[in-house]
Amino acid sequence: MAVLSGNHQQITDYLTRIGIPVPFPMKYVYCYIFRTREEIILIDVGFPTTDAKQYWEEVFEELSINPTDISKIILTHFHPDHSGLISWMQQKTGAHVYMSKEEAKMIKTVFGGSTKQAEATYELFQKHAVPEPLLTKVKENVLFLSNKVNPLPEINNFNESQLDSPDGRWAVHKYSGHAEGHLCFYHESQKIMLIGDVVLNRITPNISLWPNSDQNPLASYFSTLHCLVDQDIRIAYPAHGTPIENLAQRAKEIIVHHKERLANILTILETNQVAFEVTEKLFHHKKLTDHQWRFAIAETLAHLEYLVESERIHKISTNGTFQYKL
Ligand SMILES: [Zn+2]
Repeated sequence: MAVLSGNHQQITDYLTRIGIPVPFPMKYVYCYIFRTREEIILIDVGFPTTDAKQYWEEVFEELSINPTDISKIILTHFHPDHSGLISWMQQKTGAHVYMSKEEAKMIKTVFGGSTKQAEATYELFQKHAVPEPLLTKVKENVLFLSNKVNPLPEINNFNESQLDSPDGRWAVHKYSGHAEGHLCFYHESQKIMLIGDVVLNRITPNISLWPNSDQNPLASYFSTLHCLVDQDIRIAYPAHGTPIENLAQRAKEIIVHHKERLANILTILETNQVAFEVTEKLFHHKKLTDHQWRFAIAETLAHLEYLVESERIHKISTNGTFQYKL
């Protein structure tokens, strides 16, 4: 069965981009099979579904790869559409698993089998006046995902600054904002960037504030985007959607998007000071699922905290509830 047709692409002689199906609107997460002089490396694995597992089986067969020949798996970041299949894939390949130290910490916190992150998210959202039953649904949502990914294999810190392919060096870059220690890979002579979820075409990557992570992710993301505007990149391959041929332009568009949202929030703060109300106003035109509410609130918090940290608004606590004031 030619499942790969249209869904895998040879980026260089040593790098294959593979769309693995995910049960989300973006449909696929793009993972990579990467060959260096000595080994075969997987970059990202996908979300744990029967479809995704079957896809990988067929990919290995079609590309004549014996899974036990894969010696390393590198996860770009901890989000479950990238990392969720890790237990299955690690067992299938016997490979060592690597992440940046920030993402290794986060995957263990969120998907390591404890209820800590779900409870911390509940408490954080409660302080921002998120009402029941949404609060409980958010907590259940985090626990549901945690149970899907758990148990985790041993996760090692990835400390390399480059990967050597027979056709040149891939520099390892770490960009924060979407995730605190998101790994990207840059082919220096061909000027190709594997950009993961850092920049996407058409949709803007989610920039959210979560417990136990970067507490000013939007500031980190602005730094990342400004850095990317200055990089010499011929083409960037994102983890969702089509390749980005003008990355600097796309990065600039996303900077504008967040600046517009900050301006919008400043207007909303004239009448509403609680993060949940601000979220409702920002997303009033959309019908959100509980899962989407979780991201909408966390994204609004990222913007509000950015405004606080840049001293444009104040944050005060009244009877355990936070308010943001102009
Ligand atoms: Zn992500």
